[in-house]
Formats: sequence, C-alpha cells, structure tokens
Amino acid sequence: MTEIDEDAWRTEVRAFLDANARPRTGLDDWSASPVHDDPGAEAAYFERCRAWQRTVFDHGFAGITWPREYGGRAGTPWQQAVYRDEESRYDVTSGFLSSTIALAGAALLAHGREDQKQRYLRPLLRGDEVWCQLFSEPDAGSDLASLKTRAVRDGDWIVDGQKVWTSGAQHADFGILLARTDLDAPKHHGITCFVADMHAPGVEVRPLRQMTGASHFNEVFLNGVRVAADAVIGEVNSGWTVARSVLAAESAMIGSSTRFDPVVEVLRLAREHGCERDPVMRQALARYVTRERILGLLRERLRRDIRAGNRPSVDGSVMKLLWSQARAARGELGVALLGADALADDGANSDPRFWRVELMSRYWGSIGGGTDEVHKNHVAERVLGLPR
Ligand SMILES: Cc1cc2nc3c(=O)[nH]c(=O)nc-3n(C[C@H](O)[C@H](O)[C@H](O)COP(=O)(O)OP(=O)(O)OC[C@H]3O[C@@H](n4cnc5c(N)ncnc54)[C@H](O)[C@@H]3O)c2cc1C
Repeated sequence: MTEIDEDAWRTEVRAFLDANARPRTGLDDWSASPVHDDPGAEAAYFERCRAWQRTVFDHGFAGITWPREYGGRAGTPWQQAVYRDEESRYDVTSGFLSSTIALAGAALLAHGREDQKQRYLRPLLRGDEVWCQLFSEPDAGSDLASLKTRAVRDGDWIVDGQKVWTSGAQHADFGILLARTDLDAPKHHGITCFVADMHAPGVEVRPLRQMTGASHFNEVFLNGVRVAADAVIGEVNSGWTVARSVLAAESAMIGSSTRFDPVVEVLRLAREHGCERDPVMRQALARYVTRERILGLLRERLRRDIRAGNRPSVDGSVMKLLWSQARAARGELGVALLGADALADDGANSDPRFWRVELMSRYWGSIGGGTDEVHKNHVAERVLGLPR
C-alpha cells in the first residue's frame, strides 16, 4: 500500500467504527469486562460479542487477510493491524470469537479441502457457527503430542477420550479435534486432526469454574463419538502439522488485543488513591510503566515489519513473555493501589471487581498459549542458542 492508501484505509475503518460503535471510555465499558460469574450474564456477553462480529462481517471488515471466496477481504496483514489498532479505541469486542476464528481459520485455510473451506469458513467468520479447540488433555498440555484421545476407523471414525481447558466449548458447534490414530507411530506422527460436531451423541461438555467465578473453559468428554470419514483436516496421521499451524496462529494472536489502556487506568488509580507520591509505589509504578512501554515499542516494531513485508524482527515467545509479565504486574499493582477497597466492594464503583479479576486472571496469560516456562525454553534454545 502507498501512504495515500494507508490514509484511505484508516479513514474507511474509522468511518465504519464511528457509524457502528461508541468510543471507549474506561472500565465501565461493556467490552472491558469479559469475566462474568453469572451464567446468564456470561451468555449475554457472548451474544453481544457475536452481534459485533456479525456487524464487522456484514460491513466487510472481518477476515481482512482471508480470500474473498470465504468471506474475507483479500487484504494485507498491515491492513489487519491497522483495523485492530483502530477498533481497540471503541467499546466493542468479538471476545472469544476472535481467537476461535483465528485458530480454526488457520487450520482450515492452510490444511482444509476445498469443500471444507466452502462449508465452514464463512459461518465461522461471521460467528454463526462457533468453534473450539480440542487439543489439551489432563496429561497432555505443554507436551501436547503425548495426547491419548483415540480415533479408531470403523467406516467413520469412533473417538474416545477426554479434553480439558477447552475455551468456549459450551457455545461451540464444532471443534478442531486432535486424536491419536496410530498407536505404533512415533508420537508426533500418529495424530490426526478432525472436525468434531459438538452436538453429536457422546460429546459431553462440563464447565470448569475458575477462581473468578466465571466458567470460561470446560472439560469435554468424548464417549464413542462418531466422526465422519471425510471430517479429517489434512492427511490421516499428519495432524501434528495442522496443530503447529494452529499453535503458531495462537502465539501470533496472544497479547495483540487491548480491551483498555492499562497504563492510563493504573495511573488514574494511583492518583485517586493518593499513591503517586508514595516512594515505594512510585518505584513499582515506574517498573510497570517501563515494562508496558517496552512492550508497546516492540509492538510498533512488529507493525513496521508487517508494513514493510519483512519477517518479524522480534521473536513471538519474547512478546508473549513480556505481555504475560506486564499483565501479572498490572493486576498486582491495581489491587495494591486499592488496598482494602479491593476486597470490600459495594458495587458502586467498577474498580474493585475489575482489579480483583485482573489479579486472578493473571494465569490466563502465563499458562494459555504455552506456559511462560515453555516460552523461556524456546527463547533459550532458539533465540539465544543455549544447549537443551
Ligand atoms: C485461558 C486458557 C485457555 C485455554 N484454552 C484452551 C483451549 O481452548 N483448548 C485447549 O486445547 N487448551 C486450552 N488451554 C490449555 C493450555 O494450552 C494448557 O494449559 C497449556 O498448554 C499448559 O498445559 P498444562 O496446563 O497441562 O500444564 P503442564 O504442561 O502440565 O505444565 C505444568 C507446569 O510444568 C511446566 N513445564 C511443562 N513442561 C515444561 C518444560 N519442558 N520445561 C519447563 N517447564 C515445563 C509448565 O510451565 C507448568 O508450570 C487453555 C489454557 C488457558 C490458561
């Protein structure tokens, strides 16, 4: 894109957002609080996210880099980055849907057959059909290739096993399922990726209640679930290749979304509670803000790489680690600044609940999308070249 095109694109995006959304104002925005301990409120939040995704799709801004024949816009990653940047200034979100679209989309676009792309991609992108990721198991998380869920050929495939930490399974129509199809092959080679119908007999979804009170993820039990022979994504026993595409999309996505400006909110809290002159708090604030600024500068560097069509000059694991550390620091700081108010909450003000949830959600960042320790291993071995 030329500079003029870039301006034109931003103008077009802003016109759409101005016409369909309100600018972000702060922690009272509906999009700033994705955690709901009441199932009714959680379902209402999910539907609001879905409504926004439909608006985005219907106006031609969903799947900006996807091919047009699947509902996308055939645009560039840079256009996508500009869109995300602009959208983050408004009180809107597609919530969990944006991640599931990115993950299932990565699997289907890169490895799906043409008939699968035609069947699934458009309803996925509009949020009309919801997907989940059936990868992790009780004994297969970081070491995902040791998964034990089995699929046995019987005309169709019959699947038995258990998945866990499955985000959004309670809303899902389909899952990208990894199952072992060859017990004799080395562990990375005997896995196949399937489209699983979440409404099929034998699929049981049990929500897991987290310490925030919300049930974001689930256990999923698969008992003799029949999966059609043509529901394989990619080749039989080559599911690890599909899994790698999905995990790469997950890493690229994590940390890219912003529901609010954390630095603005933390500094506001410090001022409101008279802590900005406290020498100990000032140190903690300075450390935190520095961390966020470094992250912001690295994000900007990545945006320029995308703009120039270059390979990313910052490793994804470095970004993930900095993001999860900043996220943990801001939760701790928010609660420390509130002091006892963080616990004593009469509901009149959004701050106590918001910062409690931020603190309790810190493990989302340090576990989901690969744990901090696993990313540190990656940085040590692949970036710094240290021995295994
Ligand atoms: C918010 C959230 C959403 C999620 N959504 C989904 C989903 O939709 N679908 C899905 O399939 N999964 C999902 N997960 C699961 C996630 O992928 C796993 O939790 C993650 O891969 C870690 O696996 P585990 O929990 O089994 O921990 P384990 O792998 O058992 O790790 C336990 C501990 O050991 C450490 N460890 C493990 N291996 C090493 C190593 N080689 N070197 C050093 N330390 C190590 C880990 O860092 C961790 O501290 C989600 C998780 C979270 C937090």
